[in-house]
Amino acid sequence: MATARRAGAASPATAGANPLLGEWQTPYGLPPFDRIEAAHFAPAFEEAMRVHRAEIEAIAASSAPPSFENTVPALDRAGRLLERTHAVFHNLAASETSPELQSAQLGLAPKLAAHTHAVQTHAGLFARIEALYEARERLDLAPDQRRVLERYRSDFVRAGARLDGAARARHARIVGRLAELTTRFGQNVLADEAAFRLELRHEPDLAGLPEFLRAAARQAGAERGLDVPVVTLARSLVVPFLTFSERRDLRERAWRAWTTRGEHDGANDNRPIAREILALRRELAGLHGARSYADHVLADTMAREPSHVQTLLEQVWKPACARAAQELEALEALALSRDEPPRIEPWDWLYYAEKVRKVRYDFEEAQVKPYFPLERMVAAAFDCAGRLFGLAFVEQPEVPAYHPDVKVYEVRRRDGGALVGVFLHDNFARPSKRSGAWMSSYRVTSHHGPDGERVVPIVVNNNNFAKAAPGEPTLLSFDDARTLFHEFGHALHGLLSDVRYVRVAGTRVLRDFVELPSQLFEHWLTEPEVLKRHARHYVTHEPIPDALVERVHAARHFNQGHETVRYAASAFVDLAAHSLQTVPPDLDLAAFERAELDRLGHPAVVGLNHRLPHFQHLFSSAAYAAGYYAYLWAEVLEADAYEAFVEAGDPFDAEVAERLRRCIYASGDSVDPVEAYRAFRGRHARIGPMLQQRGLIDIDD
Ligand SMILES: [Zn+2]
Repeated sequence: MATARRAGAASPATAGANPLLGEWQTPYGLPPFDRIEAAHFAPAFEEAMRVHRAEIEAIAASSAPPSFENTVPALDRAGRLLERTHAVFHNLAASETSPELQSAQLGLAPKLAAHTHAVQTHAGLFARIEALYEARERLDLAPDQRRVLERYRSDFVRAGARLDGAARARHARIVGRLAELTTRFGQNVLADEAAFRLELRHEPDLAGLPEFLRAAARQAGAERGLDVPVVTLARSLVVPFLTFSERRDLRERAWRAWTTRGEHDGANDNRPIAREILALRRELAGLHGARSYADHVLADTMAREPSHVQTLLEQVWKPACARAAQELEALEALALSRDEPPRIEPWDWLYYAEKVRKVRYDFEEAQVKPYFPLERMVAAAFDCAGRLFGLAFVEQPEVPAYHPDVKVYEVRRRDGGALVGVFLHDNFARPSKRSGAWMSSYRVTSHHGPDGERVVPIVVNNNNFAKAAPGEPTLLSFDDARTLFHEFGHALHGLLSDVRYVRVAGTRVLRDFVELPSQLFEHWLTEPEVLKRHARHYVTHEPIPDALVERVHAARHFNQGHETVRYAASAFVDLAAHSLQTVPPDLDLAAFERAELDRLGHPAVVGLNHRLPHFQHLFSSAAYAAGYYAYLWAEVLEADAYEAFVEAGDPFDAEVAERLRRCIYASGDSVDPVEAYRAFRGRHARIGPMLQQRGLIDIDD
C-alpha cells in the first residue's frame, strides 16, 4: 500500500510545468483554475494514467496473499490523480468550455475508455478480487467492506474480466462495435433534426404563435441563411409549435417529421443500427450467461429483474390510460365548443391541452415570477438543508472559482461548526456552458484522509437560468425553482456522504436509486410553510398569496394521464426490445413496436415519448438501455419517502430527517439500496403515493 501511495505523486519535473500535476496550495484544495490551460490536459492525463497503471500493477504484483486490506482499499485509493484530473476536465468541458477543450475531449475519450477497460480486465488484479469474493463468508468483513468488494467484483465481471480466450476477445470486439454504433445513432438523429425545416413564409402560417416562438423561429431561419421564420425539429421549437400553432395542417407536418426521426431510408436510417445494437447486446448478455440483455442489466439495479419492472409499469398503466381518456374527453369538448372537428389527432393534443389549461388553471408565469427571486430560492434550499440535516452554508466571496458568476460556500455543521463539504453554485446560462441542469463533483468523499479521516467533498450544481440585467434580480419560474431544488438534492447526496470507500460514495449508487435524493428534495419547495417564509415579492417582500399557490399546485396534475401513458409506453417498448431472446436479422422495428403497443392497448392519439429509431436513451449510449423505467422507480421511492414526514405531521420532523440522512443521503452505495430504504421506512416502498402525486388516483381511492 505504501508503494501505491508513493506512486500517487507525479515526478517534480512534469509537475512544475503543469499545474494539473502539482500539489494544489489553494483554499480547500480547489483546482488552481486561473493557471489551468486546455493544453495541460493531454500530458496530465498521460501522466495520471501512467501513475494509475503503476498503482494497479503494484497491487496485482504483491507477493503477499490477497487480503481485503492489501487489495480493496488499495484499489479504492488508486487513481486519485487520474480522478482529480478527470473531474477538472469533465467539469470545465461542461460549464466553461472552449474550442480547445472540445477538441481535447474528442482525442481523449477513446484513450480514457481503453484505460478503464484495461484496469477492469487486469488479470492479476481480478484474480485477487475473485479470490476474496470466493472467500467473502470467511473474511470477517464489516457490511460496507463486503458491499464494496461485491461492487468492485461486479465492475470487473461486467467489463468481461471473467471471460477467457475467444469469449473475451469477442466481448472486447462487441464493446468496440457498440461504441461506434451508438455514436452513429446519435449523429443520425441530429442529422434528421437538422435536415427538416418548416418555412413559415406568410402571416397565416404563424397563426397562434406567441412572440417568443416567432422570435425563436426567425432566429432559426437566420441561422440557416433564410429571411423567413422556420420550425426545425429542435425540441425547443417543435414542442411549442405543436402547442400554439392554430394551423392543423402545419402541426401535422411537424408532428410527422418529429415522430419519424431516424426512420427514413438513406444515410441517416437508424433502423439497421438499432437492430444491430440489440443483436450485439443480446450476444453480450449471452457471454455473461444471462437470458437477455434486460436480465443482464437489471441484475445490477434495485429492480433486479425484468418482471419487477413489468409489474411497476403495469400498475401505472391502467390508471394512466383511464386518466388520459378523461383528458381526451375534455379536449374533444373544447374543440366542439369552438365549432372545430371534435376528432383529436396526435398532432392536436398539445394544442387543445394548452387551451384547456388556460381555462382551468389560468395563471401567467408573470404573476408567479416576482415571488421567486433566485437569491431567495437559494436561501430557501439552504434553510431546508439546515432544518433537516443541521447544515449551514457560508459564502466565501474571496475564494475564486472558474467563472466570476460561480459562488463558493463552506458547508458546516450548525452544531460545532465542523467542515462538511464545499459547495459551488453555478446558476447562470452562458455560451460556454452546455444546456440543462446537473450536479457534479470536484472531489468525492471517502475516509482516505492521511489518518483515515473523512475527505471533504467538493460538489458543484449547474443551472441555466437567464441572468437578469445588472442591478435587476434574477426571477425564476416555478419550474426553475423546482430544478434548483432538484439539483440541490443531488448536491446534498454528495455533501452528506459519509462512507469509507470512494467506489460507493455519494451519488455512486445504482441507476434506479440515484434520483431518489434529488426528486425527494423537490417536495420541500412546495411546502406551504417554506413558500410563506421564502417566496416573497422582490419589491414588496409580501409572501406569495394563497390563491396563487393553490393554482400552481392544482396545475401540477394537469395532463398527467397523457404524460404518464407516453412515458410508460416507451418504457414498455424499451423493456420488450431488450428482453428479446433472439434478434432476427430482419427484425422490423416499427412492426415490433406496434405489436407491443397493441398488446398494451395503447391509445394511439396519445403517442409515446420516444419511438425506437430515435430513442437516444437506449441507443446513443447504454446509459438507459433497459433502464428508461428508472425515473418512475425513483419516483415511487421518493413519493413514499415523503409520506414519512406527512405521517409524522411535520415536514421537518427531526427524527424522520435524521433517519433520512443516515439511511439515504449519507450511505451512498455502502448498503444494498433495498435494505437502505427499508431501514429508513421500516418497510418496502408502496406505489400509492406516486400514483397520488401524479393525480392518477384520488386521495380517497
Ligand atoms: Zn436528477
